[in-house]
Amino acid sequence: MSLPRAVNRSGLSHNQKLRVYDRQVKTIAITSQTEKKPATQPKVNQEASKNKENTPVAKVESSVAVKADKLLPEACGGEKHYKRALARIEELHPVYQPYVIKLINTGYQKLGICWTITDGYRSPEAQGALSGGVTNAGPLQSYHQYGLAIDIWSVRDGEIVAYNPSLNKNAREKLANEDHRKLGPIGEQLGLEWGGHWTSFQDYPHFEIHPNGKKWRDLKPQLIKLGITNYKKITF
Ligand SMILES: [Zn+2]
Repeated sequence: MSLPRAVNRSGLSHNQKLRVYDRQVKTIAITSQTEKKPATQPKVNQEASKNKENTPVAKVESSVAVKADKLLPEACGGEKHYKRALARIEELHPVYQPYVIKLINTGYQKLGICWTITDGYRSPEAQGALSGGVTNAGPLQSYHQYGLAIDIWSVRDGEIVAYNPSLNKNAREKLANEDHRKLGPIGEQLGLEWGGHWTSFQDYPHFEIHPNGKKWRDLKPQLIKLGITNYKKITF
């Protein structure tokens, strides 16, 4: 599901552009879903000298064991947003699901802000339809086709902030951006890559995971072999 046109044509459209870079790989060791390990914080190193983009990017060295918590309904700001978030999470690759739940729950508990997901899995056809418009990534070039990316938006007063018709365009974009800037570091702490720190453009709502450091280029042959609808069976 793509974003409503009104948002794409707003000032956010620049932020929505998705280009694939040789970004620094974050390595996330994926542990078995059934393994019961306590959640641990990732060991983070700043390696500014190795970073072509000249801004320090956290490199996750150790495994980030994220416990498979339940999504908190109150963290989504209303029944319809909770159901929508759950439906999008269910479409994701199983390794990413606990991270997204943790991101929403923690984003609510630490910031007092509610969140829902507008985009999770996106088919190659849907990606192709977006190419050149709100994204520069073609089919199979976005982590959305691997079930390893989401677009997440803050919810206030029962409405997705960026769409809220009771706020004027500038106000809702400013508020949505502020909320994303607060959530970005929480996702990065979990070992996710946040689009808000990309350099040529910023894709604030976008968070993706690179399991065991695997990038889409590494995963594409496996996905084609499995069949593109079997993305949930990709191994890392
Ligand atoms: Zn995205």
